[in-house]
Amino acid sequence: MPNEDAKAARERAKAIAEARRAERRNRKRKCVVCGVEESDRAPLSAHPEGIGPACRGCMEQKAALR
Ligand SMILES: [Zn+2]
Repeated sequence: MPNEDAKAARERAKAIAEARRAERRNRKRKCVVCGVEESDRAPLSAHPEGIGPACRGCMEQKAALR
């Protein structure tokens, strides 16, 4: 039945998306400048030069240099 196929495909896509989300949550990102792991104390945000995620400390240092 086509409807069942579509439903199965939707379920599969949902499972894959969920697995990807879980993987992203589990994989720690690191600051590209100093290598500190992302945490509540060291939240990472995008580096203005587009080189990747950077921690707040490095961002502040970067801002202070300007
Ligand atoms: Zn850093």
